[in-house]
Amino acid sequence: MARLVMKFGGTSVADIERIRNVARHVKREVEAGHEVAVVVSAMSGTTNKLVEWCREAAALHDAREYDAVVATGEQVTAGLLAIVLESMGINARSWQGWQLPIFTSNAHASARILDINGEELLKRFKERGEVAVISGFQGIHKDTGRVTTLGRGGSDTSAVAVAAAIRAERCDIYTDVDGVYTTDPRVVARARRLDKVAFEEMLELASLGAKVLQVRSVELGMVHNVRIFVRSSFDKPEDIDPHRNPPGTLICNEEEIVEQQVVTGIAFSKDEAQISVRRVQDKPGVAAAIFGPLAEASINVDMIVQNVSSDGKTTDLTFTVPAADYDRAKDTIEKAHKKIGYERLDGATEVAKVSVIGIGMRSHAGVAAEAFRALAERGINIRAITTSEIKFSLLIDAAFTELAVRTLHSLYGLDKA
Ligand code: ASP
Ligand code: MG
Repeated sequence: MARLVMKFGGTSVADIERIRNVARHVKREVEAGHEVAVVVSAMSGTTNKLVEWCREAAALHDAREYDAVVATGEQVTAGLLAIVLESMGINARSWQGWQLPIFTSNAHASARILDINGEELLKRFKERGEVAVISGFQGIHKDTGRVTTLGRGGSDTSAVAVAAAIRAERCDIYTDVDGVYTTDPRVVARARRLDKVAFEEMLELASLGAKVLQVRSVELGMVHNVRIFVRSSFDKPEDIDPHRNPPGTLICNEEEIVEQQVVTGIAFSKDEAQISVRRVQDKPGVAAAIFGPLAEASINVDMIVQNVSSDGKTTDLTFTVPAADYDRAKDTIEKAHKKIGYERLDGATEVAKVSVIGIGMRSHAGVAAEAFRALAERGINIRAITTSEIKFSLLIDAAFTELAVRTLHSLYGLDKA
């Protein structure tokens, strides 16, 4: 017997028929003798519509009321799933964030979970064999008692937090893909599903554009050592043997991964823009003069490359920002022109960031050098490079994204046979 969290996303609960399908997945695990807490998202499209209604009501609105509106989507699915489970003869009760409670910070619309009380759930597992159906995405602020939400995609984070609170063996994320792939299978047909990924690698993959999980859920899983299993919700519930390992990807501690590859996956993102500040004064305080105002404008700077000046007086400084912030970033730098002191501002929006990720890089030298050679052979120019312990990222022309990803995927032996 195990204790499990089963999380179902919006497409898996899109209508009553699919909710019935979800209920059959739950039934399977209950009948296998497991204690189950289910975390659900709103029906697909619902949250978007709720967000839109808020905007329509008033372009500028109070985030507390936004939360009051958008938290409702999950309330509906939790109730519906509990109804369906009961109708199938399974003891079930729905739980809103405030009922457990799931305490959060007061950063409305992007609140952080602070504490979950799982004791009542544990008691009910034991005494009544009752399935808990919990609304994802929402919580309650500790002091004000107001409803909060965790940011878009937040029900993944709810699920992992609940798993930590009830000390679950595993947090199963049922979704519309059957796992985490070495890269986007729509771009590389030979992408492989990974059996296991380490938390750290998944953090990089998730934040670099593999949109399987909310990044925060992976952070939380890493902190509390909650094993997260990404699997398909479209497999027929009856075809799955609950006592055997189903297809999917386990996100876990690196110690659990026996056969560690040097490179685990390739992520990429085209939502990048490059800004180069030409001939800035090469003196203390210049980087602060550039990046201070950007930080104040809440613009996330990613790659930063500064040349060593050849004349000792001026140098070039290049960095990337999200494409959506490109104009704002340029404006911000131009406004600080006097203070920074530079000759010219260049920019490019048709750029892409390709990242190679793998824990094995910690103990292998020359991994990046292989990439430079392979890309050069294909005539792909590298505009900027950044590295960390377990990944390196390359900025290239967006037109070469697919070619670069495919080249690197083969280079590091990730292609499926
Ligand atoms: N329903 C919320 C959203 O669409 C939360 C989630 O699905 O994870 O963002
Ligand atoms: Mg999601």
